[in-house]
Amino acid sequence: MVATPIGNLQDITLRALEILNSVDVIAAEDTRHSATLLGHFGIQTKLTALHEHNERTAGEKLIAQLQVGQSVALISDAGTPAISDPGALLVNLARQAGVKVVPIPGANAAITALSASGLLMPRFLFIGFLPAKSSHRKQVLEAISDVPATLVFYEAPHRVLESVADFAAVLGGERQITFARELTKTFETIYQCPLGEALAWLQADPNQQRGEFVLLVEGAPVKDEQAISPEARRTLELLLAELPLKQAVKLAADITGIKKNTLYELALTLKP
Ligand code: SAM
Repeated sequence: MVATPIGNLQDITLRALEILNSVDVIAAEDTRHSATLLGHFGIQTKLTALHEHNERTAGEKLIAQLQVGQSVALISDAGTPAISDPGALLVNLARQAGVKVVPIPGANAAITALSASGLLMPRFLFIGFLPAKSSHRKQVLEAISDVPATLVFYEAPHRVLESVADFAAVLGGERQITFARELTKTFETIYQCPLGEALAWLQADPNQQRGEFVLLVEGAPVKDEQAISPEARRTLELLLAELPLKQAVKLAADITGIKKNTLYELALTLKP
């Protein structure tokens, strides 16, 4: 499984070049597209097609070749194979046949976008492409609207306006969206704004609707992991009525098991 660049050919790795040069055959999503990449690096290895419409039959043939000792590299049109691209089925077939699978890491659009987004949430949820139909898209968005992690989408240019409109409709206008467009290419653009302003920004300049996009949407706020129950609040109130604030908070924490900081913040609102 060999990752290739997502735009800038300089992003190929030394290991990818060595593998692509030395294997018996390279299976590629689109052999004409990949011939350009291989030509650029003077690689003359034989190419064969493996895409979403022939993955099983082409995959079975490749497994037979692997079983007689040949080596096969799988590449996709861009980035890491099997990530919103064909490849997972081939890996499964290989595993079942006892064939070793070796990942050669490299470019990936989602990770590249995240690295330059400046979004502070430590977690992200990779969604990839949303359904083409708006009603299905909204269902998926509703299902993930409470997830406290950056949401990562891939989107095609002809659908970016519709998708962004649905993001705002389902997730609200306040969350930040990051457009990561044409990463590693000449017109690379990374732009951030609230979802409520995103559609107007896209519409103001048709150039911003062209090319390839990763869309990053801020996740739902992290819920207080230690929500304060009505009983715990009552306990704190009673203690606050009798004791100095610090002592009341400490005792309430001992009684309820809730963190002192959480109770302290509540106590400040109850007793100035
Ligand atoms: N396997 C690839 C990867 O590892 O990122 C993704 C392949 S998927 C079929 C193609 C989608 O990835 C595009 O529609 C776009 O959403 C995103 N993408 C690929 N290259 C990109 C780039 N240079 N800039 C922004 N997004 C890109």
